[in-house]
Amino acid sequence: MQPDAAPLASTQAHDDGGGPSGPPIIDLRDVVKDYPTGAGSFRALAGVTLRVAPGELVAIVGKSGCGKSTLLNMITGIDRPTDGVIAVAGMDLRHASENDLARWRGRSVGVVFQFFQLIPTLTVAENVMLPMDFAGRGSPGERRSRAAELLELVEMTDQADKLPLSTSGGQQQRIAIARALANDPPILVADEPTGNLDSATASQVFALFGRLADAGRTVVLVTHDADLAGQARRIIRMADGRIVDGPAGDAQTWSPATQAPTSATDQGGHDG
Ligand code: ADP
Ligand code: MG
Repeated sequence: MQPDAAPLASTQAHDDGGGPSGPPIIDLRDVVKDYPTGAGSFRALAGVTLRVAPGELVAIVGKSGCGKSTLLNMITGIDRPTDGVIAVAGMDLRHASENDLARWRGRSVGVVFQFFQLIPTLTVAENVMLPMDFAGRGSPGERRSRAAELLELVEMTDQADKLPLSTSGGQQQRIAIARALANDPPILVADEPTGNLDSATASQVFALFGRLADAGRTVVLVTHDADLAGQARRIIRMADGRIVDGPAGDAQTWSPATQAPTSATDQGGHDG
């Protein structure tokens, strides 16, 4: 590590690393989300209770429209619940002010999207530095060395000075993961992160999420790929705004082997 990188957190495991443990870092109780629509209000989440321990890798599965993205938006504080209790990384997300929420989000959660959402006019390294620039973390030199560390972590060092669109889809998603880690958040959230990748590349990206969880990062991802979901230590199945399968939390692990026989195969290709 470069001496001038000291004020920024390292890419190494968090202190709570080494697998799921401790009190939940994500704690949702009886969360309800209603959206106003022309035809009255629509209940997208109908009472979701979910606890995730630090270092867990949780896969959320379920058909299109069942509320997966809405649930992720509750966890990231992008949207607020209609009812219920949400505490994530020490913050009461239902009652926090917008300012507190924005600051909290910048340091507590990294978000990864299906279509990467990299800025095409910035280099790979500049994309990874952007969240640090927004958060005002470190000097420009520190941000640059932190970005280099993160690109090494996702094996993208040799692409640092290229533009994102000159790299492959899998590489772009790895860059996006490096960017999500820029401010060293304890939680990574990803909505269909492999939905735009071929299956071999998807497995590599999924394996990267697994390694990050092994290093102590809490990872919550939505996927409709049953094979990938099956590799997660814990699968949460949703239908009609509810969790219909899997334990609500307390760091229990829930092996795919305990699923009903149909459940491993009824996901493929339905989402969108
Ligand atoms: P998923 O991610 O599982 O496909 P979503 O969480 O995006 O599902 O959506 C859940 C349900 O809520 C869907 O029926 C969707 O149409 C509805 N919905 C999502 N966002 C809004 C919104 N802003 N206004 C009204 N309805 C919404
Ligand atoms: Mg969705």
